[in-house]
Amino acid sequence: MTNGAKAADKRKRKVDKCAPKVAKSQSKTNEQAKNIVCSVCKQPFLLTTRAPALEEHSQNRHSKTMAECFRDVSK
Ligand SMILES: [Zn+2]
Repeated sequence: MTNGAKAADKRKRKVDKCAPKVAKSQSKTNEQAKNIVCSVCKQPFLLTTRAPALEEHSQNRHSKTMAECFRDVSK
């Protein structure tokens, strides 16, 4: 009888222990999501920014290619 309650208690404790860790790693991921930075002018772009927009920035602002301004971005 007490076995089931014990297992539930254990499970709950495990969840409580894990919760802050999960939240922390999630916020870190969100920060990294904004991590395309133009190597020329250091302007940050969201990681979800499409390649054409980065290409446009590179050409309009610096007359360079996307590869020169955004070396971290893999196509
Ligand atoms: Zn730039």
